[in-house]
Amino acid sequence: MKNQTVLVIEDNPSNMKLVRALLELGNFQAIEAETAQKGIDLAKKMIPDLILMDIQLPDMNGLNATRAIRQIESINHIPIVALTAYAMQGDQEKALNAGCSGYITKPLSTRSFLKKIHEYINQDVKERSEH
Ligand code: MN
Repeated sequence: MKNQTVLVIEDNPSNMKLVRALLELGNFQAIEAETAQKGIDLAKKMIPDLILMDIQLPDMNGLNATRAIRQIESINHIPIVALTAYAMQGDQEKALNAGCSGYITKPLSTRSFLKKIHEYINQDVKERSEH
């Protein structure tokens, strides 16, 4: 069976490196984008199983990128999990309001990260059954 794919939209190289390592540990295939626009383009092209969305990106914030993805019919079913800073608790509610399925707070906890990915990856936002 093909590994499930996770699109990581994150501009911070050290966060990206950590996320990539954790995803590989969990046998997920990481697809990487360092800008929102590249992320949206890759999402359309690759149709990942999950999207991890940083909030602060150089070109567009992650909330607006999430709203944009939710408007695109071919990818609006993909669960999006926001990567929010622990200190920015307001961001978490904003992320949910923008259409994210949940959030993971940074700094990342290596112990709970994969658990959260598993929790969200098979949650279709339209709750479509694939069986
Ligand atoms: Mn960032």
